Amino acid sequence: MDFDYENLPAVRVTNLVKRYKNGTLAIRRLDFTVRKGEAVAILGANGAGKTTFLRQLTTELKPTSGTIEIFGLDAVREAGRAKLTMGVTPQEAGVFETLTAREHLELFGRLKGLGKAAARAASDELLEALELRAEAKKTVGTLSGGQRRRILVGLALIGAPPLLILDEPTTGLDPQSRRTVWALIKRAIGTGTTVIFSTHYLEEAENLSTRIAFISGGELVADGSLAALRARLPQKYRLSYANGSGPFPQPRVEFFETFAGAQQFIGDRRIGEYQLATVSLENVYFSIVGERIGEERAFEDE
Ligand code: ADP
Repeated sequence: MDFDYENLPAVRVTNLVKRYKNGTLAIRRLDFTVRKGEAVAILGANGAGKTTFLRQLTTELKPTSGTIEIFGLDAVREAGRAKLTMGVTPQEAGVFETLTAREHLELFGRLKGLGKAAARAASDELLEALELRAEAKKTVGTLSGGQRRRILVGLALIGAPPLLILDEPTTGLDPQSRRTVWALIKRAIGTGTTVIFSTHYLEEAENLSTRIAFISGGELVADGSLAALRARLPQKYRLSYANGSGPFPQPRVEFFETFAGAQQFIGDRRIGEYQLATVSLENVYFSIVGERIGEERAFEDE
């Protein structure tokens, strides 16, 4: 393509607002720039606006107002060209049930501009990497929830687009499949791909991202590296220990500003068994946003 991937931000969002037809204000006013090569995790409770935000980036939804540029391309006026730079996990409804897993990947590869042989080779490589080789000839409609989810990730990755936009790429996957998907996303990041993904799994955000954005009530409430976000908290250490002895000691948690302060507490109380660590992303999220991220969803299958 004829534009400058290297020097333009991958994504630049200014003054973004999305109001649905029924009046729901899902994105209130969002400014957000993602540089090339960044891997950004979008975290937020259910209903925070994550999907609405991502679907505007992918050009599926039009902003009510504000602008979105993808590598300098206007996501509304040049939606077609912008879309060609992106690999996107499609909505489940956008999946063709009667195509086989391989046909589906090949089709998306062709749409990304790969020739026939290249699309076939890329599909086979992805089926292998996603541990779906045995499913290559099965129709997508007959696959399990977890297998379909992995196909969706494959559809985003095929053709190695410079920008990946992944809405909850591993929801419903068992831990093993989640790691398989993480490895593929990490590989893409390693080759300079820009990635923006939403997730409910804090471990996923910690593992895959170089930058974390918290969205709440349609607004960006914090944005930075995990270390930078952690640094905003006055209390940076978390001590968990068991209070009392006997068969049912009470689990307790305390937070401290300094490591020395925590050690003093442990010494003063003669606490024998404890865990002392820097605060987790969950603690940081709760402290900044003031709500919990939402319960973990149960595994769909496998
Ligand atoms: P998240 O992905 O963080 O769970 P969503 O972007 O799905 O959040 O939703 C943000 C808000 O917009 C919620 O209040 C949700 O109910 C509302 N919403 C989402 N989709 C629609 C729609 N098609 N029409 C009206 N309201 C919607």
